[in-house]
Amino acid sequence: MDLYVEGAPIADRATPDGPIETRWERRQFSAKLVNPANRRKLSVIVVGTGLAGGSAAATLAEAGYRVRSYCYQDSPRRAHSIAAQGGINAAKNYRNDGDSVYRLFYDTVKGGDFRARESNVYRLAQVSANIIDQCVAQGVPFAREYGGLLDNRSFGGTQVSRTFYARGQTGQQLLLGAYQAMERQIAAGTIEMFARHEMLDLVVVDGRARGVVVRDLVTGEVSTDIADAVVLASGGYGNVFFLSTNAKGCNVTATWRAHRKGAYFANPCYTQIHPTCIPESGTHQSKLTLMSESLRNDGRVWVPKVAGDDRAPGDIPESDRDYYLERIYPAFGNLVPRDIASRAAKNVCDEGRGVGPGGLGVYLDFAGALERLGRPAVEEKYGNLFEMYQRITGEDPYRVPMRIYPAVHYTMGGLWVDYDLQSTIPGLFVIGEANFSDHGANRLGASALMQGLADGYFVLPNTINDYLAAGPFGDIAADHPAVASARQAVSERLAALLAVDGDRTVDSFHRELGHVMWEYCGMERTEEGLTKALGLIRGLRDEFWARVKVPGTGAELNQNLEKAGRVADFFELAELMCIDALHRRESCGGHFRAESQTADGEALRHDDEFGYVAAWEHAVERPVLHKETLDFAYVHPSTRSYK
Ligand SMILES: Cc1cc2nc3c(=O)[nH]c(=O)nc-3n(C[C@H](O)[C@H](O)[C@H](O)COP(=O)(O)OP(=O)(O)OC[C@H]3O[C@@H](n4cnc5c(N)ncnc54)[C@H](O)[C@@H]3O)c2cc1C
Repeated sequence: MDLYVEGAPIADRATPDGPIETRWERRQFSAKLVNPANRRKLSVIVVGTGLAGGSAAATLAEAGYRVRSYCYQDSPRRAHSIAAQGGINAAKNYRNDGDSVYRLFYDTVKGGDFRARESNVYRLAQVSANIIDQCVAQGVPFAREYGGLLDNRSFGGTQVSRTFYARGQTGQQLLLGAYQAMERQIAAGTIEMFARHEMLDLVVVDGRARGVVVRDLVTGEVSTDIADAVVLASGGYGNVFFLSTNAKGCNVTATWRAHRKGAYFANPCYTQIHPTCIPESGTHQSKLTLMSESLRNDGRVWVPKVAGDDRAPGDIPESDRDYYLERIYPAFGNLVPRDIASRAAKNVCDEGRGVGPGGLGVYLDFAGALERLGRPAVEEKYGNLFEMYQRITGEDPYRVPMRIYPAVHYTMGGLWVDYDLQSTIPGLFVIGEANFSDHGANRLGASALMQGLADGYFVLPNTINDYLAAGPFGDIAADHPAVASARQAVSERLAALLAVDGDRTVDSFHRELGHVMWEYCGMERTEEGLTKALGLIRGLRDEFWARVKVPGTGAELNQNLEKAGRVADFFELAELMCIDALHRRESCGGHFRAESQTADGEALRHDDEFGYVAAWEHAVERPVLHKETLDFAYVHPSTRSYK
């Protein structure tokens, strides 16, 4: 394949050797410290104020560093993390149901289809318990049982109850905690907050990340900011598919621009398709809505046994229903992981047994739970989700089953980082959904909040000291060639987008790109489809740069200009995603290659050939692939079975 060239292997050199149980403790001890008086002399830029960026900024500032924080929303509190619904995992074993750090580690490595780094996952499981303590201390109102103890529920891919939650608003409550911690530092003057500022490039000086180029989204002013280290916490890139459950603003620009400056991008093709979303209702739509996985604790998924059965759900007797997840996967039932549940839904719809308009839906039925628990109990657990469903669809899920269908939800790919969460550019750290670590080829539910907060509250604030101990790295003038050229490149790109002055809207290109990605790089991928997609993406990208219409100017609030820059980056990312998906001729987790499946249609991995992280280096002609071999000394790769 001449789509890429293969470069030297890459290795994570930050993980200590020896027993996995003590690696984190030993890394913390071996990492250099910065004494409190010196911290005041060091500055850190944090891009992003979601759970990862918000918690990191607050913690670094509390430690004494001078922090400058950026987000494109009008308030840090409106980061996409606020949308998270179902919960956050932690190995507390409050239910005494056999949970442990080791079991959370095991479930996550297995759930990720053996494509994650063991050391990182083990640390995540260890730190998970601290997160709950931290958030409870902040006053996050987790759900409690009658006796006052914290309640738990189950999420997919596990047989224990380890998910802590605040009704269907867990992200909102956790973000309020992180936001308050940030606000305290803002008031204390240790965090300078720049809302409505978008990072459009990374400044690299003498091989180190030293700052960012940002555009003030209200005035249009382009400026640079220099610091001793830069942390990207800019979230995921699921919106490359146009339709996704992500907030409309989510984009890849911060990480993509860093990638173009030398940071490797790992496993870009690993996308999570969530099985329980409200089905698309027409071409007018710009967003899809998630129905939290927590609903599968009590909701049962089914379709009619016979294709074309168009009776109303209430008229279909039990004997004519196929509770296909419970039938195929009796051990995990409705709580199989997301990749498995999504593919199963696609399969029954492909067989013509889908329900609702276009046959693209399956039922999620609460009749049994309502009978067993009573309406007040169901309301208490899921009330806001039921209300949201009713408002969007006009159907009452207390009376008729919900209709759900898979949709793009999360991206496991992201910038490559080592155990210290440092990218391939020294001084550039990447946390939360923006990095590639921890989830392998498939993320288990309730693990993103856990990872974002683990990174921000506990991991980064320890590992970044090791880098900053060598600082301060010296002043850099605004007219330094590296700074001036980065700023100029940003201004020229903005001018180029405005100058096209064509006849097609940014959204029309984005929608078409998303359609190509969903069709050929979505739930099922083939060599033929991905090759076709590459041609389509390149053609569409050329058309974008010839025909896009961006009204207004760059010297004002101009949301079309913002979107145009993001979509231009999505085009480049989409190409790399397809190349990554093409080169990985195996199925693993969310990456299902139709050519690589077992006789009964399950994902078929090829560990000998593909047991590595694909870390891509940007190059003008063709991307360069660096492989990080994954070793499994504790959880040995096996065929994932949830049966
Ligand atoms: C509907 C929904 C429900 C979910 N529910 C759950 C759940 O129950 N449990 C769970 O574990 N996970 C859940 N997830 C996943 C989880 O919410 C996300 O993975 C997580 O919140 C990401 O956090 P983050 O801090 O990495 O990024 P985000 O919260 O996306 O924050 C990104 C930040 O970066 C800023 N930013 C981005 N680019 C730039 C730029 N160029 N310049 C300046 N600022 C920039 C943004 O302004 C924002 O502040 C859910 C996801 C969705 C879509």
